Amino acid sequence: MLNDNSSKNIAEGIIEQISDADNFNWRFHDERYSAKNKQEINFRYKCSQRSDCAKKLWKCFNPEKQCDTLPMKRFDCHGEINIVIDLEMKITSVNVIHKILHELPKEIGVPNCVKDFISENIDLLPKEIYARLVENGLDPEIC
Ligand SMILES: [Zn+2]
Repeated sequence: MLNDNSSKNIAEGIIEQISDADNFNWRFHDERYSAKNKQEINFRYKCSQRSDCAKKLWKCFNPEKQCDTLPMKRFDCHGEINIVIDLEMKITSVNVIHKILHELPKEIGVPNCVKDFISENIDLLPKEIYARLVENGLDPEIC
């Protein structure tokens, strides 16, 4: 019998296969049980370059230090993958929407101001570093 964890693993495995094939970054968005059938779990992933996923830009912690990372190029691609896993029937359906096959994401670098912040605060616990980065403008969803 499959459990919630293994259905998430199945979804992650499918996303990995799709990403290997199309080279886009598909980011986990949410998961929910179907209202009609409690054995069905729906996992949603979104294209990392969707224009409606763009959030605040980075603020530098130290204005004297320049962030040299450009924001990721965004597209109105509506990129979304829905994976529905029926635990009882052991059936998975995958629906891919990607209206624009836009250019692939460039390698995403970590802004220097963030690297500096981490090295200056290396004695903090990772969750404290994360909390402070979020306080200072990091998108916690990193959509
Ligand atoms: Zn896209």
